[in-house]
Amino acid sequence: MASRDGNGWVRCSLGHRHWGKFGAAGLLAYAGEPDETQILLQRRVAWSHYGGTWGLPGGAADSHETPVEAALREAAEECGVPPDAVVVHGIYTDDHGGWAYHTVFARAAAPFAAYPASEETDDVDWVPADRAAELDLHPGLAAHWAELRAGLLPLTVIVDAANVVGSRPDGWWRDRAGAARRLVSGVTALAGAGVDLRAVTSQAAGRLRGYLDELLTRAQSAGVVRTDVDTHDLHAIVFGALTAEQRQIVLLADVEDFSYQEIGEIVGCSVGTVRSRLHRARGQLRNLVNRYMKTSP
Ligand SMILES: [Zn+2]
Repeated sequence: MASRDGNGWVRCSLGHRHWGKFGAAGLLAYAGEPDETQILLQRRVAWSHYGGTWGLPGGAADSHETPVEAALREAAEECGVPPDAVVVHGIYTDDHGGWAYHTVFARAAAPFAAYPASEETDDVDWVPADRAAELDLHPGLAAHWAELRAGLLPLTVIVDAANVVGSRPDGWWRDRAGAARRLVSGVTALAGAGVDLRAVTSQAAGRLRGYLDELLTRAQSAGVVRTDVDTHDLHAIVFGALTAEQRQIVLLADVEDFSYQEIGEIVGCSVGTVRSRLHRARGQLRNLVNRYMKTSP
């Protein structure tokens, strides 16, 4: 077996230099209910690359390893993570062409004991996912944290069965029972194989961006907001500043136009909670617009 043959620098097709000849992988271990999820973070020692920042335990993959194997090995070596303490739920791949970083989502039944197990590790800690953005994060983690955070929320897929069956040539009018059975087996297969998080979040992010553009255009035509600010910058600021929960509630209420009742059923909370979450999220959006976009005096 080729052992540790992944150590080394490589240049990706975007022109960056990366550590890991066969790519790299990190473990995003998490535990707890959606509202109070905690994640396991590692602080790198001061003398290392990006020393002092918090990141995921991980590192270079070897030629014979899958991303999951590499992430679990690195997490064990660096932070003493027992491989059987987690169940792998998915992978988020940041592919640069010629090099990729794989974030392995791994759920733990409860936060387990972890400790600095290598000399490159200064500290290991469970951190509330909602507070992670306040830490001095490793730039690689910071750049993708919004998407990774969204991946920690359980994904709710709503199938409008009557519409799906009604729009199929072999559906409603031909064979109702058969069409319903085929739909159920299709959805079951999808649930078993998993859903491509990136496709889902990028669609949702696209719709949110459209909504933000609309808000901006309105604010600009009212003269509240400068017209020379790059909307791309605003998107980055907003995505970074809203929690995943806030993005979800704005998306459901203001972009998808679900009623409070429906949102409560989708998210699994009361109408009162929907109202207060939405109120806070909209307030946050307004603050951001005011803080970053106001016409300079
Ligand atoms: Zn790159």
